[in-house]
Amino acid sequence: MMVERLQTFGDIQLSKQVLQSLSEMGFEEPSPIQNAAIPVALKGADIIGQAQTGTGKTAAFGIPITERVNSKFQAVQALIVTPTRELAIQVAEEIAKIGRYRHVKPLPIYGGQPIDRQIRALRMGYQVVVGTPGRLLDHLNRGTLRLQHVKMVVLDEADEMLDMGFIDDIEGLLKEVPTEGRQVMLFSATMPPGIRKLAQTYMNNPRSVSVSRDDLTVPMIDQVFYEARESIKVDALCRIIDMEDIGQGIIFCRTKRGVDELVVALEARGYFADALHGDLSQQQRDRVMKRFRDGKSELLVATDVAARGLDINNVTHVINFDIPQDPVSYVHRIGRTGRVGRKGQAITLISPKEYRQLRLIENLIKTRIRRKELPSLADISER
Ligand code: ADP
Ligand code: MG
Repeated sequence: MMVERLQTFGDIQLSKQVLQSLSEMGFEEPSPIQNAAIPVALKGADIIGQAQTGTGKTAAFGIPITERVNSKFQAVQALIVTPTRELAIQVAEEIAKIGRYRHVKPLPIYGGQPIDRQIRALRMGYQVVVGTPGRLLDHLNRGTLRLQHVKMVVLDEADEMLDMGFIDDIEGLLKEVPTEGRQVMLFSATMPPGIRKLAQTYMNNPRSVSVSRDDLTVPMIDQVFYEARESIKVDALCRIIDMEDIGQGIIFCRTKRGVDELVVALEARGYFADALHGDLSQQQRDRVMKRFRDGKSELLVATDVAARGLDINNVTHVINFDIPQDPVSYVHRIGRTGRVGRKGQAITLISPKEYRQLRLIENLIKTRIRRKELPSLADISER
């Protein structure tokens, strides 16, 4: 009788340099999406990869990229496109770790950073470029980014990039990558049908690699909602913050203005939070993210700019101060917690008029979101 055994990274044909990096990173065994995608990707096949938030999709493409680029050749051979700047930086950092002993160097390229510095960096011969669509296209048009040696393209959070209207930019980039021997990989936790069109045009017989398609959200995330009228939402939020044992929390608002207003309202009540949204300067965004990643701030109030892909170790809570307009966004927002098997809490505040939106979310995720009652002040002071 065959004894079934969990596959290890050693069973996948990986170089000893990559195995060394993975072991230093504390990766003991491949996650299901890594198990399914890496062997296929190593062969150079096109992939549409779907797996829940926080299940290691970055390494699922980062490992094959590291193995397949030639580190002795000083030209861009892999291009990774992400919807936000913060995600570009994070993905580049993970690939730098994986590629450490193979001497594969990734460069993040994103809007808001001085272009001259990027132009100089691009001349240094990085093999992997990770960037946001607009800035990448800008470099392409200036002739400072050359794609003729690119053989791997990854669209991380592909569906979000389409939603954000980046399709023209992405097509502009893809057109410059020679089709001969080109490998295109799309990754996300959600793959709406619109993706198929992109796949038909730019991919060659793509393999769908998906893990637990029915269950969009991970079971490690406990999901609850509270009903609170608009006028008492800030106070309700404060009570929840008092009640919950929050390590670090991300609070999502619908608009940039909503974010700023909530930060002020919290501060007026003695709660401190940093704001993150697209109207801040890149320096501010970097500072806020660094403080949060370093655990120096406890609460981040953000727009959906923080909904996708961000991987921050200690996020115990995601709070939807405003219920997301799009159910897909709910999946990504709450996916900032409950990563790699850790526990997480997702809390959504809804006004009595928003039950319909809640049901739409429940239909998408095929899970009931549990109703909880707001704690009274007495409950809190007893703790
Ligand atoms: P996703 O893109 O699926 O949301 P990420 O790629 O951001 O997930 O990975 C989530 C976290 O899990 C990261 O901190 C990453 O370093 C870690 N991770 C990825 N693969 C493994 C693994 N095989 N073993 C342990 N940790 C892993
Ligand atoms: Mg990701």
